[in-house]
Amino acid sequence: MIYAVANQKGGVGKTTTAVNLAACLAEAGSSVVLVDLDPQGNATSGLGGVPDDHPTMAEVILDGVPFRDVLLPTRVPNLSLAPGGGGLAGAAVELPNRQGREGVLREALSASAGEYDYVFIDCPPSLDLLTINALAAADRLVVPVQCEYYALEGLTRLMETVEAVRARLNPDLRITGMLLTMHDARTRVSADVIAEVRRHFPELAFRTVVPRNVRVAEAPSYGEPVIRYDPHCAGADAYFEAAKEVAARA
Ligand code: ADP
Ligand code: MG
Repeated sequence: MIYAVANQKGGVGKTTTAVNLAACLAEAGSSVVLVDLDPQGNATSGLGGVPDDHPTMAEVILDGVPFRDVLLPTRVPNLSLAPGGGGLAGAAVELPNRQGREGVLREALSASAGEYDYVFIDCPPSLDLLTINALAAADRLVVPVQCEYYALEGLTRLMETVEAVRARLNPDLRITGMLLTMHDARTRVSADVIAEVRRHFPELAFRTVVPRNVRVAEAPSYGEPVIRYDPHCAGADAYFEAAKEVAARA
């Protein structure tokens, strides 16, 4: 099963969610790949980085390098990384000129994605062709929503994009759910956003809400998911619960 983790807003917790859901399911014994499709490469650095001469998803997309050739082991057993980073900025520029430009990733994953229980694609903060490629390749979509003002802004456009992808490219794409992130129990706005998302998207909102937790923010600088960096912190607990929901909703 291939999951895209997308929201065109930056800083809402996409990378944190993709990395930690992938890590939780891997720790539970599934074979998992995390695909970093963001030119910022945060998922890649957050899982320990990529050697200088190692090919990345940019080479998969631009040069037809086989997907399995870019996979790197991580410190999490059963979790491999398909690294992203800077080269993907070139891919975002180059892709519009390609034939079948929306299906490049789907094609690249088709040979080997089936070998894994879960593939998570961490999308860039935009609705550009990289994200469209992710949605075209995915079976499921997870949308992190930050508990912050204007959280719902943009969700309508994201849902329209999902509809367009279903209509033209990938009729089987389903939305697994929306995961509320960075909840701060002390603030009114967090509670308001949770209520609003649950009202607008009663079926889609995950039961689990991820709290704002400093350990979650620290973990990437140690090259680890929070579920390994501090497996008993509130953030790790929440991601374990969210991963159970993902598995249950599959
Ligand atoms: P995106 O990929 O959507 O841009 P990130 O996952 O990179 O978002 O999160 C943005 C920032 O917020 C990062 O610095 C990350 O470490 C931090 N962050 C994400 N989730 C949490 C959380 N639950 N608690 C505290 N900080 C978080
Ligand atoms: Mg990110």
